[in-house]
Amino acid sequence: MYDLIVIGGGPAGIFAAISAKEKNPDIKILVLEKSQKLLHKVLISGGGRCNVTNGLLNPMDLDPMELDPKDLARNYPRGQKELLGPFHQFGPKETIEWFEKNNVKLKKEEDGRIFPQSNSSATIVDSLLLRAKLLNIEILKNQDIEKVYKENENFKVISNDKIFISKKLAITTGSCAKGFDLAKDLGHTIKNPIPSLFGFNISKFTLKDLSGIALLVELKIKGSTFSQKGDLLITHFGFSGPAILTLSSIAARYLFDKNYKAELIVNWLFDLSEDEIFKKLKNLKNKNFLKTLYSENLFHLPKNLWIKFLNSFDETFKKELKDIPKKDLLILASKLSSDRYAINGKTTNKKEFVTCGGITLKEVNFKTMESKICENLFFAGEILDIDGVTGGFNFQNAWTTAYLLGQSI
Ligand SMILES: Cc1cc2nc3c(=O)[nH]c(=O)nc-3n(C[C@H](O)[C@H](O)[C@H](O)COP(=O)(O)OP(=O)(O)OC[C@H]3O[C@@H](n4cnc5c(N)ncnc54)[C@H](O)[C@@H]3O)c2cc1C
Repeated sequence: MYDLIVIGGGPAGIFAAISAKEKNPDIKILVLEKSQKLLHKVLISGGGRCNVTNGLLNPMDLDPMELDPKDLARNYPRGQKELLGPFHQFGPKETIEWFEKNNVKLKKEEDGRIFPQSNSSATIVDSLLLRAKLLNIEILKNQDIEKVYKENENFKVISNDKIFISKKLAITTGSCAKGFDLAKDLGHTIKNPIPSLFGFNISKFTLKDLSGIALLVELKIKGSTFSQKGDLLITHFGFSGPAILTLSSIAARYLFDKNYKAELIVNWLFDLSEDEIFKKLKNLKNKNFLKTLYSENLFHLPKNLWIKFLNSFDETFKKELKDIPKKDLLILASKLSSDRYAINGKTTNKKEFVTCGGITLKEVNFKTMESKICENLFFAGEILDIDGVTGGFNFQNAWTTAYLLGQSI
């Protein structure tokens, strides 16, 4: 008989077990992982470097100063309200302190993302597994949990080849369908899991030969309230980059419902109004009337992109500026401030970093991470209907909820 069984040996499961043992060294804990590998997603995360958390809001390099949990929580399209309290208990500051105490040197990159100084996610995996070992946490691999149920106030946990019994149960199976089924069997409802954090495929994409260009833009999804400013990356299939990934996250359900077909409006010059763009073009025409727009990259856009825009109007802008009528300058100003692209699908699995959907949040007590439906049942990590934008926020959700879970056991 165990005091706690944790199903799922990902970051939420391993950290929950560590947190519980650090709080109460005498309890008997077992972690059950279906695969041969523990912390597999940590290992492949952040391009093999593991973006552990985010310190953007912390101006002092890795100094453990207070971050505003409200600002932090804004990075979670789902879970913003619920994570506010937990972040007061265990946020990036505590995460950084925990890893540094466990001999992982961290560094903050310019955009605020925090990585191990080694640039290797194995450093994070090793430190977690070493801590688990030192705390005598029992871990069994190749245990695919197929069924759980309550019998005489205890949980019976049935794997492909064994039966385990525990007083308390934590399900930390991430976005695995089986984990959702286990939670459903114990009375929970699941918000339909769908992808978040993906690139947009663009139909008849005219910029594909400019793949690799990145620039700061403002994006909107036509007919919705979803918008985002940030870096856009042109790819050979359409658009990606931080601004697109964030937009895909905040609009995840909307885009899913539209079968990933929508109109994307790109404002290439968002610090100027359409009228200001037009006036700049008109002034240029008045001053340099014998030149063409090709020789005057007025807005300092990447040169190939500027030429592409001009070429998209065939011969119109090949003429000297004096021969270009006002109406054509108005059309160009309109294109630069609201360029339209037909989204036709999303990038597939490889780029999917996180799942939107999971355990319905109102069914969980966010002070303890205990189920409000089934006593002594707990959740942490991505199995919850919580997901963040890119930048280390998804691991932070795992560390925070797992910490609370462990403390409350
Ligand atoms: C390619 C990639 C890169 C990423 N990079 C980053 C990053 O740099 N920063 C960031 O913040 N986030 C990143 N993420 C997201 C992050 O990895 C997840 O949010 C995080 O791993 C969720 O942790 P978890 O423990 O809740 O779930 P998981 O990591 O998915 O772990 C769940 C575990 O449960 C096990 N399991 C499932 N079902 C069962 C069962 N029935 N029985 C037993 N075990 C079971 C699984 O095998 C798995 O080991 C990335 C994700 C991917 C896919």
